[in-house]
Formats: sequence, structure tokens, C-alpha cells
Amino acid sequence: MMTLIHNRLNQIRSQIQYAEMAAHRGPGSVLLLAVSKTKPAEAIAAAYQAGQRHFGENYVQEALPKQQALGAFDISWHFIGPIQSNKTRAIATHFAWVHSVDSLKIAQRLSGQRPDTMPPLNICLQVNISDEASKSGISLDELPELCAQVAGLPRIKLRGVMTVPAPEEVFEKQCLPYRKLYQAVAQLGQFKLDTFSFGMTGDLAAAIAEGSTMVRIGTALFGVRQ
Ligand SMILES: *Cc1c(COP(=O)(O)O)cnc(C)c1O
Repeated sequence: MMTLIHNRLNQIRSQIQYAEMAAHRGPGSVLLLAVSKTKPAEAIAAAYQAGQRHFGENYVQEALPKQQALGAFDISWHFIGPIQSNKTRAIATHFAWVHSVDSLKIAQRLSGQRPDTMPPLNICLQVNISDEASKSGISLDELPELCAQVAGLPRIKLRGVMTVPAPEEVFEKQCLPYRKLYQAVAQLGQFKLDTFSFGMTGDLAAAIAEGSTMVRIGTALFGVRQ
């Protein structure tokens, strides 16, 4: 497993480098977030040994035991799944980043529950850019107001936006939703947002072409999920 994950990691790193160059973006301007949901701690350890430091999890009850098992590792944990109110305390105390904030209520809870002893919790607001009924996230129209409400909360730091567009096969079509969200954020300069959590296994190059600063990659690194 070590060699397989190491090889896949190198392949993804090259894809990111290539997409950065193609988009005239600086080398290293896109961070790789390894999405380890449903995968065992051993898989995370293998990626860690190959130099990966940022990992994303979707379910609190699954993430906590893995975090415990990997407690000796210097990992930056990102929460990227839907957030239930009764899980905000665990999220606020066990993660460095949350990509999936989609209400003021959840942001307020994370703010109130982030321990003073920890650095501010990095927050991205999740936008449902393709307006799919099945997906979480706010609509683009709601983004300016939620930014304004969240930006002032203590112990959290509003960093940017995350989105999961409707799947598309063709590169040009994959670009459009990211471009739309990127341009909307450009109108919100006062919030100094620096993070675009854009791109997964199927659309990493398009996301980087449209300004991604963080790609969330699961399948290409750890294999298909059951
Ligand atoms: C599972 C998941 C990913 C990873 O998707 P892959 O297609 O496996 O790379 C990225 N982002 C979110 C929000 C996810 O839930």
C-alpha cells in the first residue's frame, strides 16, 4: 500500500504542477488536500510518510478515532462534510479547517466552541453553485451577507469558499461554475478571502485553471470508495 499511495501521490503532484503552469499560476500555489473518508488510518499514514500533511474528513465519528491513532503525526485536519449542530463542538476542537460552513448558526457555534488555547479555526463557506436541490451550501445570492455576518466572529477566520459543482465530463463545462464563483468572490474584496477550495479527482485541472488554491482529492489517491 505504501508504494501504491506514494506513486499516486507523485502522479497527483505532477498533475497539479502541470495545471498550475498551464494556468500561468506559480508553482506551489495550489495545496493538495488528501480526502481520506472511509479509508483506514494506515492509508493516511502511508500518504504522510510520502510527505502529505493536509487531510480531509467528512464524518466526525469516523475522523476522531483516526485522529487519535495518528496523534503523533503533524497533520492538519480539514472537515469537509455536512455539519450537524450537535457535532460543532467536536469539529471546533479537532480540526484546523472547516470547508463546509453554510449557515450563520453553524458559524456562531464553531466560533463559540473553538478553544482559546487553539489558533483561530479557518472557515470556508460552502456555495451550492449549480443550485442542486440535493447539495448543501448557500446560494450565490446569499454569499455577501453570510460573509459579512461570519467575518466578525471571534476565534474563527473566514478564509474563502468551497463548492462541489454538478459533475461534468468536458473541461470547458467544468470550468464555468468555478469561474462564476471566483468572479463573485472578486466583488467581495473587503473580506480579503484567499482560499478557493475548488476541485476533486474528476475536475482538478479545470478547478486550477479557474483559481483553485486547494484541491480535495480522494479517489485518485486512495482508490475508489465502497
Ligand atoms: C469525497 C469528497 C471529495 C473527494 O472526492 P474524489 O472525487 O474522491 O476526489 C472532495 N470534496 C468533498 C466535499 C467530498 O465529500
